[in-house]
Amino acid sequence: MNAEEKSGKKIVVLFSGGLDSSTMLAQAVQEREEGEEIIVISFLYGQKHKKELESAKAISKHYEVEHKLVQLPQLEGSSLTSEEEIESKTEKEALPSTFVPGRNILFLALGAAQGFMRSTREEKLEIWIGATAADQEGYPDCRIAFMEKMEEALKDGLDRPLLKVKSPLVKLTKKEIVLEAVKLGVPLELTWTCYEGGEKPCGECDSCFFREEGFREAGVKDPLKE
Ligand SMILES: [Zn+2]
Repeated sequence: MNAEEKSGKKIVVLFSGGLDSSTMLAQAVQEREEGEEIIVISFLYGQKHKKELESAKAISKHYEVEHKLVQLPQLEGSSLTSEEEIESKTEKEALPSTFVPGRNILFLALGAAQGFMRSTREEKLEIWIGATAADQEGYPDCRIAFMEKMEEALKDGLDRPLLKVKSPLVKLTKKEIVLEAVKLGVPLELTWTCYEGGEKPCGECDSCFFREEGFREAGVKDPLKE
């Protein structure tokens, strides 16, 4: 191994197989320099929409990057992982029913732990997470302030001073993400966004709604709708 390879950055991409994280993966692939390594991680956490994991696998294959699937215990307290919705205590505190308590905390910690095993203290280690502008209001674990605090916690807890948490989509709207995906040549036909795991997107869930809106505003035809 030569000196250049030794200093290679490791990029851990937290990947669902949806439109957002697929666009983020395409960005990582595009930005990658020689000697840098991308590790893609998807999580099984009891989500009803496991179909997204087939997408994650297919898209990782498309980009020829290593894909790791990590099995977690069922994460409770969300309409994504159970039939029951957990009501918040007051209107003001209300979180979307699709909020999965603890999910991004665990994803970032486990992503960093995987990256830790694959890098040295002297190497740059980045954990990429696909939080978007639309997530800022409803999801506290997608906000910039949270990401900055997690970065500090992971740096300290893993003794990795060069660790960074990056959320490259955090200022982008769905429309802008669709345009970025088109620009980068993301295989949109392989992505899966719907919260339901049917043959075709249900067209009714929040996730389908925002995807449709994004494509419409971007003036791009969604290949999943054909
Ligand atoms: Zn849907």
